Formats: sequence, structure tokens, C-alpha cells
Amino acid sequence: MRITFFSTQSYDRESFLALPHPPEMEFVFQQPKLTLDTAVLAAKSEVVCAFINDDLSAPVLEKLSANGTRLIALRSAGYNHIDLAAAARLGLAVVRVPAYSPHAIAEHTVALILALNRHLTRAYNRTREGDFSLRGLTGFDLVNKTVGVIGTGQIGAAFARIMAGFGCRVLAYDPYPNPEVEALGAQYLALDDVLAQSQIVSLHCPLTPDTQHLINVESLQRMQRGSMLINTSRGALVDTPAVINALKSGHLGYLGLDVYEEEADLFFEDLSDFPLQDDILARLLTFPNVIITAHQAFLTREALDAIAGTTLANISAWAEGKPQNLVRLET
Ligand code: NAD
Repeated sequence: MRITFFSTQSYDRESFLALPHPPEMEFVFQQPKLTLDTAVLAAKSEVVCAFINDDLSAPVLEKLSANGTRLIALRSAGYNHIDLAAAARLGLAVVRVPAYSPHAIAEHTVALILALNRHLTRAYNRTREGDFSLRGLTGFDLVNKTVGVIGTGQIGAAFARIMAGFGCRVLAYDPYPNPEVEALGAQYLALDDVLAQSQIVSLHCPLTPDTQHLINVESLQRMQRGSMLINTSRGALVDTPAVINALKSGHLGYLGLDVYEEEADLFFEDLSDFPLQDDILARLLTFPNVIITAHQAFLTREALDAIAGTTLANISAWAEGKPQNLVRLET
């Protein structure tokens, strides 16, 4: 069985090749992203293994299906980027990795909060230039601050646990409250109340038609002046031009992003030799109180090992006719 992996980096190859796998599984690692043009690289591959910025729209799925693909194995938890209706129509099974390390993403979220609050990137640059002054580096204690967690599934719950450990008051919004989060002493409130009462708001809900641009002009207005917004979930949860205006006016005090609505053509690539073509991202990068990482929250050794392990188990289970971690249209 030939498995073609798209969007592979050296760390993907290492984590998959480190695992024992049956000799009939042939791995073909492709560095390019999956697009209509690169789909041909998966010719005669029963299985296509894709990541978050691969194009899994109907035309691409049709091309893969015509070339013999029968399973799309996502190396991600999120599946907002696949046209599930088209996959169902074409008889393509879709599997995902529902959980690999919620801690990886939760801990990166906290890294962004601490780096923004204590101005670590400015301090790092300053001391390397021999500038040991402290002007502009004042932060705030996290203890007793209110943190709003939007979406309290696996990652939101891990994040809430860490912030409760810092001595923060944790507020949460989720249509399905998580008893584990309630047990931390967190309080579930309506979204508007969480936004209004929090000094830090962190997004951990999936991207769906309901959550697209959850953070927009109106919801930003509900947030406290000078508050911090962190998004390590999916870029389109945030209306980026609205956030830029809130940063310019000073209403939003800090922004930490690991995801960006238009990241698909940018993130995971070294574009440092070329002029940045995305003017919205370019504007965001000018703010001293903004930190952007390029979708790296998942990138820990433990998470990579778990992604590879679950993906191979998903493929084996499907090949044996006992599929697991299926993504269905109605889920
Ligand atoms: P999960 O399914 O365990 O939890 C998602 C939670 O969001 C659920 O409790 C659900 O009830 C809640 N939710 C659904 N709609 C909501 C809404 N309208 N408002 C508030 N909450 C809502 O998922 P998870 O494993 O915790 O992952 C959360 C998200 O993190 C994923 O959807 C993915 O987009 C993102 N993610 C990012 C990275 C990264 O590297 N940056 C890695 C993995 C996952």
C-alpha cells in the first residue's frame, strides 16, 4: 500500500520512519503542499496523508480519487480544511488524529502570554545590542488576573489548568461545559461576559461557520481596554483587519497568534528572501505588542510521535476494515 505524505518537513519524516511499520506500507514523502497541481504526485497512492494547509477542496479530492486514492489520513485534529461532502460523494474515507498532545498547544499558548506580558522579544534584542535599560518592559502579575478560555475541550482544559496554577481566575465559554474545567473552580459564562471580564482571552474552539470571525469589531469592543488576545486555534476565528484597528487605537493591548487566516501560502515556508506579499500580515508584524509564530504550537517531540503513531494506527485499522478516528460529514 503506497502512502503519499504531503507538506512534509524533516521532523515529519523522522517521526514516521522511527516507527515500526509493515513492509507492505510504502512511504512517499513529498515536501510540496497538496494542491490541484501537486495532486499528481499521489498517483497510485491508496492513501494520502495531509496536513493543515493542504488543499482538500472538491476539485483536489476528485483528482486524488481518479488517481486511485481511497483514504485521506489527516495528520491533524482539525478538519475544517476538507470538503467532507465531496469526500463522501467520492467514497473517500477520512481519518484524523483527534488528540496528540493538548499540552503542546496549551503550553505554547502560555509561552505567548508570558513573552507578550514580559516583553521578552524586546528584552532579548536589547541585551544583545548591549542595551540593558528597562524602559517599556513593565509587565503585570498573572496572579489574580482573569483569563477567558473560549472552547474548553482538550486544549482549552489543559490551558485552563495551567492558568489556574498561576493563580488566575478562569472564566470559560463553551456550549458544552467541561466538568474537569468546572472542577478547577472555573466559571462558565455567556461569551460576552467572558470577553468583558477577562484581561486575557484565549481561543481554543474549532473553526466552524458559527465561530468564523468570532473575534470581530463588536466582540473586540466588549473586551477590556488594554487586554490580551491569544489565538492558537485557527486563523479565521479572528477578523484580522478589525484586530489591527483595535491595536492601532490601543484598545487591544497585546496580540499573540500562532495561526493566521491567510497562513496557507506562508506558514511552514522560508520566504525570507522575498518581499512579503500579504499587507495585512505585514502590518501586524509592525506592532511591538504582537507576537506571531507560524503554527508551531503542536511542535513538540511528544506531539510528533503521537501524530505519527495514531496516523499509522488509523491507516492500519482502515486497511483491516475496522476504521477508527473517522471524520464523517455529520460530526
Ligand atoms: P476539542 O474538540 O477537544 O475542543 C473544542 C471545544 O470547543 C469543545 O469543547 C467544543 O464544545 C467547543 N466549541 C465548539 N463550538 C464552540 C463555540 N462556538 N464557542 C466556544 N466553544 C466551542 O478540540 P481541541 O483538541 O481542544 O482543539 C481545539 C482547536 O485547537 C482545534 O479545533 C484546532 O483548530 C486547534 N489546534 C491548533 C493547533 C496548533 O498547532 N496551533 C494544534 C491542534 C489543534
